[in-house]
Amino acid sequence: MSLPQQFSSFGNKLGSETGIEQLMTDLGEAMSGAKDVLMLGGGNPAHISAMNTVWRKRMQEILDTGAPFDNMLANYDTPKGRPAFISAITHFLKNKYGWNISEENIAITAGSQSAFFALFNMLAGKFDDGSNKHILLPVAPEYIGYADQGISPCLFRSVRPIVSETRVNEFKYSIDFKTLSINKDTAAIAISRPTNPSGNVITDDEVSQLSALTKKAGIPLIIDNAYGAPFPNIIFTPAKLIWDEHIVLSISLSKLGLPGTRTGIIIANKEIARRISAISAIIGLANNNIGQEITWPLVGDGTLEKLCAEHVTGFYLDKAKFAVQTLKAAMPAHVPYALHKCEGSMFLWLWLKELPITS
Ligand code: PLP
Repeated sequence: MSLPQQFSSFGNKLGSETGIEQLMTDLGEAMSGAKDVLMLGGGNPAHISAMNTVWRKRMQEILDTGAPFDNMLANYDTPKGRPAFISAITHFLKNKYGWNISEENIAITAGSQSAFFALFNMLAGKFDDGSNKHILLPVAPEYIGYADQGISPCLFRSVRPIVSETRVNEFKYSIDFKTLSINKDTAAIAISRPTNPSGNVITDDEVSQLSALTKKAGIPLIIDNAYGAPFPNIIFTPAKLIWDEHIVLSISLSKLGLPGTRTGIIIANKEIARRISAISAIIGLANNNIGQEITWPLVGDGTLEKLCAEHVTGFYLDKAKFAVQTLKAAMPAHVPYALHKCEGSMFLWLWLKELPITS
């Protein structure tokens, strides 16, 4: 039998070489030690020894108690996630932020990346009435991992930000609300906060304005909080975390040190949460449960939040300060450059003004 020579539109679009696939292949090869390279790219979190000690201790407890270990490896979870973890996260978020949520507002996914695939394609793309809707990105550049997720072509529309010089050799992006327009084909607005790759954190005022605009238009506001508070808390500027019925908030266990467990957490209105779980069942039956089993006792009582504040935030802030100082010292005075204000995430965004080539 010969292999198919042709693939469907879905097969061609998602099966061709994409930015995120190249990035993850480079990153995986660098981390696996297959090549002698220095790991400088991508969003693989650091191995922070205080955090690794916590994971090892929890793994030992799980092994020592026996039943949780057998249950973790030998049972499928529900597509929605692990009940003990969902209950812990609901309890924690309700207590901390006073949000009116229940377990039905939570959907666990195989990393937040999978959640975005489900969300973008369930909200935007081709509709039964023939219309085509898009996801509006209010600030570009945005996370490269979104770019190829659309099953339909042209899933995203992005808007140029306002660029303000914050001090010498430093700038910040902000949303240009004058040009940001929601039209009848806008399915949702999405933003990562802190933003990968710029390290930007849009202000509380910008979030309130986005929330008001989307609420008025009756569309979701998707906030990707992969680097934000309460965990991993790789955020260096005050930022309020909000949730409402029209807000879809995404949290991840990756950047606090558990990317291999592939655990994303979505807090959304009940219908969206239910649909995400329905898609998880079709694509993968159930999610990986190891990260959920390791962290559930630490989530509920606030320990995970404290661990991140104590060991994760400062770790990345120190690295960022060191990188900025090193760059400043090394840059010749005649080279015009600016760095995006470093407000969070694990990236620095360098603008080489007047560079005669593209990026
Ligand atoms: N969102 C942002 C902004 C990211 O940088 C990443 C990963 O780098 C993700 C989402 C996806 O992370 P994960 O699927 O590991 O939760």
